[in-house]
Amino acid sequence: MAYLYDSENIFAKILRGEIPNATVLETDHTLAFRDITPQAPDHVLVIPKGPYVNFDHFAMNASDAEILDFNRTIGTLCKMLKVQPGEGGNGYRLIANSGEAAIQEVPHMHMHILAGRPLGRMLN
Ligand code: C5P
Repeated sequence: MAYLYDSENIFAKILRGEIPNATVLETDHTLAFRDITPQAPDHVLVIPKGPYVNFDHFAMNASDAEILDFNRTIGTLCKMLKVQPGEGGNGYRLIANSGEAAIQEVPHMHMHILAGRPLGRMLN
């Protein structure tokens, strides 16, 4: 099945600078910014700069450099966002909603990083 990328999606507009965002980190191939409707004290979205619809599209088609850059950026952020014991936990959660079943709202590959509070058990 072909992947159809809609270049008018909101994250494509963010990448083109048409819509403002609260950037946390930017690298050659990756942008990380704060979610506009945070579900935790720290809620960051990490997106590849390339036109990928979802996780499998990205993982199976991006270059090694893009994948390495994306993973390293997530690793850096996870280290940075981990809260200290006594502040509600010291971990984080990664989520990549992909497709209708997962209710993916924005059709540009993104990883959520949630941190800064106890996150409870895994979602249903
Ligand atoms: O994984 P899903 O596609 O459902 O998540 C999209 C996320 O993008 C939502 O958490 C939403 O708050 C966020 N968003 C954003 N800035 C926008 C539009 C959506 O941070 N301008």
